[in-house]
Amino acid sequence: MKNYGIGTLVLTLLKERTKIVGVFKGEIIVKKKQFKAESKKLLDMMINSIYTNKEIFLRELISNASDAIDKLYYRSLTDKKVSVKKDDLEIWLTPDKENRTLTISDNGIGMTEEELEDNLGTIAKSGSELFKEGNTKEKDISIIGQFGVGFYSAFMVSNKVIVESKSVDSDKSTIWESTGADGYQLKEGTKKENGTTITLYLKENTEDDSYDEFLETYHLEQLVHKYSDYIRYPIKMMVTETKHNDEDDKHEEVQTEKTLNSQIPIWKKAKKDVKDEEYNDFYSDKFYDYEKPIHIIRSEVEGRCSYQALLFIPSHAPFDYYSKDYEKGLQLYSKGVLIMDKCSELLPDYFSFVKGIVDSEDVSLNISRETLQENYQITSIAKSLESKIKKELESLLENKREDYEKFFKDFGTQLKYGIYSSYGMKKDILQDLLLFYSSKDKKLTTLKEYVSRMAEGQDTIYYACGETTDKIDLLPQTERVKEKGYEILYLTDYVDEFVLQCMMNYQDKKFQNVAQDNLDFDTDEEKEALKKANNEAKDLFSAMQKALGDSVTSISYTHRLKNHPVCLTSKGALSVEMEKVLNTMPTGEKVKAETVMEINEDHPIREKLEELYQKKDTESLEKYTKILYAQARLIEGLPIENPTEISNLVCDILAK
Ligand code: ADP
Repeated sequence: MKNYGIGTLVLTLLKERTKIVGVFKGEIIVKKKQFKAESKKLLDMMINSIYTNKEIFLRELISNASDAIDKLYYRSLTDKKVSVKKDDLEIWLTPDKENRTLTISDNGIGMTEEELEDNLGTIAKSGSELFKEGNTKEKDISIIGQFGVGFYSAFMVSNKVIVESKSVDSDKSTIWESTGADGYQLKEGTKKENGTTITLYLKENTEDDSYDEFLETYHLEQLVHKYSDYIRYPIKMMVTETKHNDEDDKHEEVQTEKTLNSQIPIWKKAKKDVKDEEYNDFYSDKFYDYEKPIHIIRSEVEGRCSYQALLFIPSHAPFDYYSKDYEKGLQLYSKGVLIMDKCSELLPDYFSFVKGIVDSEDVSLNISRETLQENYQITSIAKSLESKIKKELESLLENKREDYEKFFKDFGTQLKYGIYSSYGMKKDILQDLLLFYSSKDKKLTTLKEYVSRMAEGQDTIYYACGETTDKIDLLPQTERVKEKGYEILYLTDYVDEFVLQCMMNYQDKKFQNVAQDNLDFDTDEEKEALKKANNEAKDLFSAMQKALGDSVTSISYTHRLKNHPVCLTSKGALSVEMEKVLNTMPTGEKVKAETVMEINEDHPIREKLEELYQKKDTESLEKYTKILYAQARLIEGLPIENPTEISNLVCDILAK
């Protein structure tokens, strides 16, 4: 699958219109197109505001050239009609001081006229959605950033760009010419060899910016070193060298061909020779993310299936991460050739956020998508990567907690889904990577840390659910558990409780929802006393139940509460919180937790209720019951069905 660059993205917006078909500077114009107004704005914005670092245009264009050569080489492996000599594949830089132009050319796959339009002039479907309204607000800029700047970065340094390209699939070449946001023209070209030549007409120098430097060979050489050294094809340039002529003992200047890049892929260089900055540049170039990765993983494995991997953990989720458009996968190389752009079989879904490349001599060049899943090499690399990624995340968690928490904010849900969607089978891999808030400082904690802090005699991991940690903290059901000195996990993500249920236990400690009716701290005597009280109040409860109908399964006294009068608890596997989550899902069918209304046995409200019952004041008893139930629901974060009625009831009682 192709990554859309900013070029394609920007142009996605450009609902092009054929303007003139006629004569342009004496030549026949195939088509002349106009960019739409909002697209102009977008292009301008990109050119002038996002990327202050203008020099990266060279990296972008070289990277495109290298991709084009990759594509040609790959084609030659599968298409007999296309033959290439590996040694001839190269990229050329040609500065021309006289004309103030810089040319970047490659002998890669080239583009047909249609492709030139599509790639440098049409609208990528995904991008257009984002900007339907011609939105060019601040926040959108960061979205653009995620696409990479691509071909359009050429306009950061040029007034005019001419692209001439001949595709392997066509006999003719086409020239694409544009001065930026005003539009572009297409006409027939004369190029005979496959490939693409891009000529940049550099902008005039201004007080702040010098563009002349992009005509200096030493500067271009520096830039190639800095950004494109790993490119696997030679990047060549003619340079002037001073030579000593022995015969007349004079120095003379000669033009020689020079290869500017080492061509060693970054993942094959000795670790000590690569600076973090280089990894970061490589990452942003390859994966279109202009924020640094939060963690870099390098791995080299020798064995039945040898491979090198360079992986990145992004610092934030791409905007489409939690949508069906997101495609996971790693770039797969074999013997130095890119054979797949997104090999999804190399990553489990719960690590789908990982970006990077895998290079293995043992993977066949002709591997097909269909057989990937049964491919021994691929499955064994995937397995080894999975445990490597797990270890690296664990060490990030241990050594760089702040970074890990940032990572977890964006990708934690994905890890949790890993447990949930495997019904707990992946628990061993993922459980120590999870973070939950807890009653201790309301900060994030791991299960391991929770267990290490468990009170003496505590054999259960307690949790409570709610929208925010503050709301959970105030839940009546948490009071007694905290009083006992037990820490409580505060589950604020809607998948959390499902995840714990799938896990069943952690280090043999079972999980217990503090709002579940089986929570039990009482001594045998206390239990006996409560049972007796509940028995005696049987008739009171059934009178109260009449007021509530089937809203609750039963009513009882409880020891669970300390100061609060009332709470809701649930019987069975379905908690009140799960009811809330499940009922928001678009499945149509509604579920209902079996709820119990529990009344604090030690609260004065108990006496009041019993008094009303004794006095046979059924009307008041009904009012009190309804209000208590409404209170319990509100505390639980559940809506009440009849707010007006409840509000009137409260007023009735206040007015007495
Ligand atoms: P990206 O490279 O991020 O997809 P660009 O705007 O840089 O976005 O380029 C858009 C597309 O144009 C590329 O995906 C590629 O198909 C095509 N392209 C760009 N440069 C070249 C080139 N030198 N040779 C062949 N195709 C190219």
